[in-house]
Amino acid sequence: MNRLPFFLPMKNCPNLCVYCDQRTITGHSETPSPSDVRAGASGIEGEVEVCFFGGSFTCFPKSLQREYLAAASSATGGSRIRVSTHPSCITREILSLLGEYPVSIVELGISSLDDSVLNICNRGYSGKEALEKISLLLDDGRFTPGVQMMTGLPGQTESSSLEDLRLIAAVKGNRPMQLRIYPCLVLKGTRLEEMLTSGDYKPPGIADSSRWAGRMIDYANAAGFELLRVGLQETASLGEGAIAGPHHPALGEFARAFALALSLVRSRPSGPWTLPPLQKSLVFGHGGWGLGELARLTGKDKEETESLIYWSE
Ligand code: SF4
Repeated sequence: MNRLPFFLPMKNCPNLCVYCDQRTITGHSETPSPSDVRAGASGIEGEVEVCFFGGSFTCFPKSLQREYLAAASSATGGSRIRVSTHPSCITREILSLLGEYPVSIVELGISSLDDSVLNICNRGYSGKEALEKISLLLDDGRFTPGVQMMTGLPGQTESSSLEDLRLIAAVKGNRPMQLRIYPCLVLKGTRLEEMLTSGDYKPPGIADSSRWAGRMIDYANAAGFELLRVGLQETASLGEGAIAGPHHPALGEFARAFALALSLVRSRPSGPWTLPPLQKSLVFGHGGWGLGELARLTGKDKEETESLIYWSE
């Protein structure tokens, strides 16, 4: 289904998170009004997913949420709505409001569940509260939940991220859930930039971030998450505003390639492996990063590792 995204940059966020500047991330500084949304949604032919990103949708006053949702509902029948929001603004009452409209997916920013990381990042909730909100959303049953997790945050470690994912997977059980993984970037003008300058924060590099996100993908695949995205969408403003951190347009590919290497080594520690041709780019793309990681994990050289890979028809 085609998407029609509307960005509401940091509108009504209960906190200013230390790493965030949605205007830089999305390249959108103006907030569309409900009538802008109505004009956009009603002008599309065929079914569409109207998305509200970049802010904390359900933290808006209820009357304004209704205006936006009614405007989005003017899209052709069968269309649906996706909202992204802050976990603090999820209650039974708010879910009832969303349920009056064709909202099908609710994404929560769950950058971490580790209270010390959440405090440093000024996220404004505890790990326990965030898990309760995920449960509330899952148990309600009307919406597919999505979680947006982050890596490389100040105070965060790879093992704490994996523990977060394990906790979310335990609450999820065998119910569907979407996942996005965003390695943290340092954006110009944020509190995180000050932390970088003062030496209080040192971001992981591209290779380490790719392996970190790759381990999360590997776990998420086994736990039945639907992985939507790894790494921020490239925009001109992100190119100008990202001053440190693992900023690379292929970061998601690197992470997926590492996750593939992990799964291959787990299935057959020394090979051989048979892969579908669709995965060739994960192995050989970007200077053979995936092949190099597979070789590193097996302790063989790249040539020998490559000779152990077979491609299915
Ligand atoms: S990370 Fe999310 S909640 Fe925090 S300021 Fe940015 S958009 Fe708002």
